[in-house]
Amino acid sequence: MSAVIRHQTAPNPDGCRWCGTARHHHGRRYVASQGAHAWEQPTNTQRLARMRARSAARTRKETP
Ligand SMILES: [Zn+2]
Repeated sequence: MSAVIRHQTAPNPDGCRWCGTARHHHGRRYVASQGAHAWEQPTNTQRLARMRARSAARTRKETP
């Protein structure tokens, strides 16, 4: 288990479609666009975009 905590440039690919929070610690959350909401599955498009953003961020960090 990694103890590294850093600012995430992209949400978890499986995070809530509205706020990006992981399901297991979502609960009920408030976002301006949706108001109070429960975790909702992201769309495939969102997942792909998040995974791409993550790998792009990783590539940038590893480049000197
Ligand atoms: Zn949410």
